[in-house]
Amino acid sequence: MCSFKFSDYDCIGFDLDHTLLWYNVTNMVELEYNAMAKYMVEEKNYCAKFLYQPLSKDLNFLLKGLIIDMEKGNILRINNCGEIIKATHGTKLMTSDEIKLVYPNKRWEASDAFANNPLDTWNGEWSSRIRALLDYFDMPMSLVFGRVIDSLDDKNGGKLDKYDCWKDCIGAAISLYDRTNFKNELGNYFVHLKKEPEKYIRKCSQEIIDWLSNMKKQNKIVYLITGSNVDFASFTASYIFGNNWRSLFDIVICFAKKPGFFNGDRPFLTLDGFDESQEITGQQLEQGGIYSQGNWNDLMIFFSKICHKESPKCVYFGDNILQDIFAPNTTANCDTVVVSEEMYAEGMISDSTIHPDEKTMTSNYWGSYFSIVDDDGVIYPSFATHVIEKYSKICIPSIKVCAENPLDHSYECFDKKINNKSGYHPALPLGLTKI
Ligand SMILES: [Mg+2]
Repeated sequence: MCSFKFSDYDCIGFDLDHTLLWYNVTNMVELEYNAMAKYMVEEKNYCAKFLYQPLSKDLNFLLKGLIIDMEKGNILRINNCGEIIKATHGTKLMTSDEIKLVYPNKRWEASDAFANNPLDTWNGEWSSRIRALLDYFDMPMSLVFGRVIDSLDDKNGGKLDKYDCWKDCIGAAISLYDRTNFKNELGNYFVHLKKEPEKYIRKCSQEIIDWLSNMKKQNKIVYLITGSNVDFASFTASYIFGNNWRSLFDIVICFAKKPGFFNGDRPFLTLDGFDESQEITGQQLEQGGIYSQGNWNDLMIFFSKICHKESPKCVYFGDNILQDIFAPNTTANCDTVVVSEEMYAEGMISDSTIHPDEKTMTSNYWGSYFSIVDDDGVIYPSFATHVIEKYSKICIPSIKVCAENPLDHSYECFDKKINNKSGYHPALPLGLTKI
C-alpha cells in the first residue's frame, strides 16, 4: 500500500481561495456571471437578449474543467487521454458525428498539447487558441462565451468560419479581477465582496484553525501561496481566520502568479503596507514575513535555511489542477493534495455530506466532474481525474477531512504504478464508481 503522512513533510503549504477559504459559490458565480455579461453588453456591444438571460436558466452549463476552442466557438470536455468526448457549439450540444467532423478522431492539436502538458498552453502561441477553465473564478466564462457565440450565429443566420470574441471575454474577466479594483473600489466584483462578505465568504471552522496552529507547534513550516493581491488576501483571510491570521503561517506569499511561481524566476517583492516595494533574494526572506510575487526556487532557499536541511520535503494543497497541482508537482518537485469540493457536491460512496452549493457545482448537462460518458454510454475518467490521480498524493473535498486527524495519520494514496483509486478520502466520488 502506498501511504502518505503530513508528519513526513518539513513544509506544508496551502492555496487560499477554494482551498482554505470556502466561498458561497452560488452567490459568487452569479456575481461573476452578471458582471461579465454587463461588461460584454455595455462595453463591447454584444446582444443583451442572449447575455442577460438569467444564469439560473443555464446553471447546468457550468462545470469546472471545460475547454474553450476560441476560433471555432466550441466548448469541449476531454478525457484522461485527451480525446474530445463531449462538446458544444456555443451552448448547443454537438453530436458524436459533429464532433468527429470538426475534430477528426476526436482530437485537436491544441487540446492534445494541453493534455500532453497543460503548462505549454497557458502562455505563448497556444494560449491564443485554447483556454481551460479550471476554477470557480473562470467557470462562468463558459456560459458568457457560449451565449456570445449563440448571439453571433443568430445575427449571422448560421455558424461563422471563425470567431474573434474570446479577447472580449478575457477583457471581461480582467475588468472583474484587476487587482487594483479592491483598493480603488472599482469594478463589479471586489466592491461587492467588501460590502457583503457574509454573502460570499464562508467562515473557517475553529477545528481547521486549530489544526493549522498545531502544525506550527509540531515544528512544521506552514506557508500560504495565493494569487490574490495582498490587500484582498488580507481582507478575506482576516474574515475567515480572524485578525491574527498571519500567525498561522511562517510565510505568506501574495499575488504569486501561479503557475509561473513554480517554474519561473520572478523575484520576491517586499511590501510596504499593501504596496509592493523592493526586490529581494531567497536569502533575504524572513520567517513571519509577507511578500508579493516571487518564485519557488527562492522559497526553497528560505525553507532550507529555516529547516536546516538541504532539501526540505514540501507538500502543497490546492484546488486548481494546473496552478496548484500539475505545476508544483512537475516543475518544483513538490508533492500535492487536491481539494475538490465536487466530491461533496456530487457525492461519494459511503459519505452523505451535502454541499450547500451542490446545484452550482454539478452539471446534469456535462456529467460528473470526475468522469465523462460518450454517446454510446462508454464512461471515461475526465482529464481532471487524470491530473488528480497522476500528480497528487490524495484528493479530499475539504481541508476538514485532514483536520479531523493527527498529523501522523496515514492516508492511502494514489499509487502511480498500479493506477489505483485509493487516494480519494473520505471515499470514492460517485462519478468514478463505474470505471
Ligand atoms: Mg484556489
